[in-house]
Amino acid sequence: MTRCDDRQLEAVAARIGSRLAGSGRLTLLTGAGISAESGVPTFRDMGGLWERYRVEEVASPQAFRRDPQLVYRFYNLRRAALADIAPNAGHQAIAHLEQLLGDRFTLITQNVDDLHERAGSERLLHMHGELRKARCTSCDGVAPWLADLDGDSVCPACGKATLRPHIVWFGEVPLHMAAEIPRSLETDVFISVGTSGQVYPAGGFVAEAQAAGALTVEINLEPGETSSLFDLKLHGPAGEILPPLAARLADSSEDPTG
Ligand SMILES: [Zn+2]
Repeated sequence: MTRCDDRQLEAVAARIGSRLAGSGRLTLLTGAGISAESGVPTFRDMGGLWERYRVEEVASPQAFRRDPQLVYRFYNLRRAALADIAPNAGHQAIAHLEQLLGDRFTLITQNVDDLHERAGSERLLHMHGELRKARCTSCDGVAPWLADLDGDSVCPACGKATLRPHIVWFGEVPLHMAAEIPRSLETDVFISVGTSGQVYPAGGFVAEAQAAGALTVEINLEPGETSSLFDLKLHGPAGEILPPLAARLADSSEDPTG
């Protein structure tokens, strides 16, 4: 596997920069790969197993009905682990791109951690939910939640002890699919970072963006399942590729001839 070199990066930055020149919009999708560079274990890192359970057996509505304590514990551990990790240079470069482009920028993330927020991102759609929020199954209220969650935790909105992790489980429909995400895929540039394209609907976003006329770019450690669909590819760690890419785009946006 050869990693992208400076010339490749320069060429990709130039193509992106020319699409963004004027009033071009950028939509960026992130997946587990960028969090893994901060030390967040992916389901695959967990060997697909947590304790002796398959992850799919814990991250599902059926599991929550059958054994809520088990499911609460799984997410309590993952939520607590966020205290020991920090955003990396890739997250920071994405926040930098948002500063550069303002409302021409949208970030969609499949990640449930809060590393993008901690790096400074504000325009982001958490399509798979957020570890540091709880959702009420009685009133549908969503509230910030930093502590452990269990069957006695009380909803701040309605007062009932009917809170669950604000996580999209296997078999559930991802968030923001009705309007915000489809709208954001009608874009000029679509960049996918740290995702293999195996999980749908996110795996289909590249085709949707392409159908809308977007230039599509894959940034991933290695070619993903949908790699052949992308116009341009940069392979290597997001934390190494995104900072120089964002810096070049910032330079070209300041150059009136660019
Ligand atoms: Zn409630």
